[in-house]
Amino acid sequence: MLFAKAVALAFALPVLRAAVVPTTHETHGHDHIDDMPKLPGVWYQEPNHPVHSLFRRAAPDDGTPYPAVGTPEWAAGFPNPAAGVPDHNTIPASWIAALNEAVSEGKIPNVPVTTNTPNTSPVYPTGVDPMSPQVCSATYRCRIPGDIWDAPPGIYASSFDDGPLPPTPQLVDFLGTNSLTTSFFMIGTNILYYPTQFLAAFNAGHHIGVHTWTHPYMTTLSNLDVLAQLGWTMQLIHNSTGGRVPRYWRPPYGDSDLRVRSIALEVFGLETVIWNSDSSDWSANSPQQVVDTITGYITGPKTPGLVLLEHTNSAITVGGFMTVYPAIIANGWAFRSVMDVANDDTIYQNANSSTSSVTPMGVLPHLVSSSSVASTTTATSATFTSSLRRASPTSSTSTKKSSAISWHVPSALGLVLLSGLSVLIS
Ligand SMILES: [Zn+2]
Repeated sequence: MLFAKAVALAFALPVLRAAVVPTTHETHGHDHIDDMPKLPGVWYQEPNHPVHSLFRRAAPDDGTPYPAVGTPEWAAGFPNPAAGVPDHNTIPASWIAALNEAVSEGKIPNVPVTTNTPNTSPVYPTGVDPMSPQVCSATYRCRIPGDIWDAPPGIYASSFDDGPLPPTPQLVDFLGTNSLTTSFFMIGTNILYYPTQFLAAFNAGHHIGVHTWTHPYMTTLSNLDVLAQLGWTMQLIHNSTGGRVPRYWRPPYGDSDLRVRSIALEVFGLETVIWNSDSSDWSANSPQQVVDTITGYITGPKTPGLVLLEHTNSAITVGGFMTVYPAIIANGWAFRSVMDVANDDTIYQNANSSTSSVTPMGVLPHLVSSSSVASTTTATSATFTSSLRRASPTSSTSTKKSSAISWHVPSALGLVLLSGLSVLIS
């Protein structure tokens, strides 16, 4: 079965490689592999891909105790949310080894870090073009091949960022009443602060993705700090969801570039989700302001479909959505979770959904992992298909190659800082 999938992927690659970056209005067509197998069944990634071992909860039990969500024992395994950004000196050695190997194999481009001042977009050093294919900053609206920006026509691809927070359960209740499922891109420190609200979202079947540990501008960070922001959040979600390994992340402020997204993908198997429509709810002064902004989108063209940026931060953001929801349907949109319409509908790397079983050892095969496939492409990712419109792969230095690093379950403690929760949109 693995071989069969590799062949299928090889056929898909020429289509996916067709476009080039940068582009601000990618309209790459749909590339379906409608027969994508569901778990349990086929594993697409090689067993020694880092993410298999970095986050492994082998069924029925990998021998590691996972305390109940919300208990002191559960929080004790993670950086203190009140103490600062994650200290990269406390990063598990296995994560660093995975990063170093990816760097040595040329998979992590050496893009300079940015600087930023409040209320401005991050800035690259003089002479570095954020729109160049070597950098391709999402802040500057450059679309990196394989990243998710658009939805299929007529789809309202929903997501809510920055939770869990006190307003989250009200949103969850509303979604449940209307039989809706959404994607929550969650902040690691907020999961520690609001475990009850976290469980309200997860237990209701909503899809949980990574929104970093303390919500920084990711392109301002060193490779190690990027590693800490993503890794701790993945580990916390894994430990809090019955062992599910997140598949998707969204960069705070939409700030990512080829270096950052390559660390996410090559080390952790995370795929990047941006957006094409910003509700600006985080800055709204009233629910009606959110309604007005979203109304502008849902009364407009249905192609491409909408990938909405919304937040679960306040009564304004949640209330605005709840008020405008009937109009979304009345205007003929199909409401879906952005993770649900992405790719093969598989929400986690090792589970199809929040309720399906977790594979004992593997993660879903959403990377080019077979050496036979790798020989046919230089794409950085996206060897699988998408019902979302993704930016299309282009050439890069990246090839998928198995690693043979030994891993261990991280147990280090570190220190973090809870930073701002709101999202600034560039
Ligand atoms: Zn955010």
